[in-house]
Amino acid sequence: MPYTPGEQPNEPDMIKLNTNENPYPPSPGVIEALRAVRPESLKLYPDPTAGSLVRALAEYHGLDESRVFVGVGSDDVLAMCFLTFFQGGKPILFPDITYSFYDVWAELFQIPYKKMPLNEDFEIVTEDYTAQTEETGGIIFPNPNAPTGIELGQNEIEEIVRKNADKIVIVDEAYVDFGATSAVHLLDRYDNLIVVRTFSKSRALAGMRIGYALGSPDAIRYLNDAKYSFNSYTMDQTSLAAGKASVEDETYFREMLDRVISTREWTKQELRKLGFSFADSKANFIFASHPSCPAKQLYEALREEHIYVRYFNKPRIDNYLRITVGTRTEMETFIKFLEKYLKDQRI
Ligand code: PMP
Repeated sequence: MPYTPGEQPNEPDMIKLNTNENPYPPSPGVIEALRAVRPESLKLYPDPTAGSLVRALAEYHGLDESRVFVGVGSDDVLAMCFLTFFQGGKPILFPDITYSFYDVWAELFQIPYKKMPLNEDFEIVTEDYTAQTEETGGIIFPNPNAPTGIELGQNEIEEIVRKNADKIVIVDEAYVDFGATSAVHLLDRYDNLIVVRTFSKSRALAGMRIGYALGSPDAIRYLNDAKYSFNSYTMDQTSLAAGKASVEDETYFREMLDRVISTREWTKQELRKLGFSFADSKANFIFASHPSCPAKQLYEALREEHIYVRYFNKPRIDNYLRITVGTRTEMETFIKFLEKYLKDQRI
């Protein structure tokens, strides 16, 4: 079954909290860089090595350029990783509740896979990934996990990577900038680790499609071999310019993250007052459930108000809403609606 992206409604008055986009615009530097793109220059192919962006990211992370691979959003990068590293015939492992594109790629590339159940608190169980390493073809999980927002500690991640030394472990850090710790510091010690990142959430560039992987020079070379066997020009000129400008504006980046994080913490407090329960999300969304109002009913009521959140009709999580953190004003409107709705329903 193909992946189903969250819907992209386009109503002027909507509050869109359903696809984990950033509520703020990208850095002013990005907007300037896009204005500076000369349309006449589009007659030329872009740099197939995406050199300017690779260099900017290498410098940002303090790594050699040979350790950076860029692609059209992290979906593109992750798909390339599945194609490149998970073809050994042994099952790859990922959590039962996680980013729902993983099983889609596994099916597409005919990679056997096993879903490891999260525990009752929706946490990853480290031993599930370290117990049977001979039978494992590779490992992937997001940190923080999606759609729960729960962070796995660096010691646990290191143990998974260390005990699976002869296979690739991918940590999908799509949401790491919103307050979790990155595994990038482990890259110097573990050649089997690949960290995947995106510009779509923390850098407010979902519409631009930029993602990247950090890994050993060998792993990055294999990824490039796969890319050049498929499509050499994945990154267009405008994405390269926008991406570089974003990486170079650390001040704006930090300010934007601080705002999202403080709004997330405010929203958690308000949801708690209304009786919702949720894990301590370190991402730009909250995965919440109400003890006396079914998630589907709330999702539909919110939708009628043009407030969009994500509802997954799937085992174990069909009574939860994944609520992206919007601006403070958007979240105030959202909370006010919930207050009134729950009161009107006598909940
Ligand atoms: N990984 C996770 C965990 C995600 O939630 C998403 C967003 N759908 C992605 C990767 C892909 O994001 P993008 O392709 O926009 O970089």
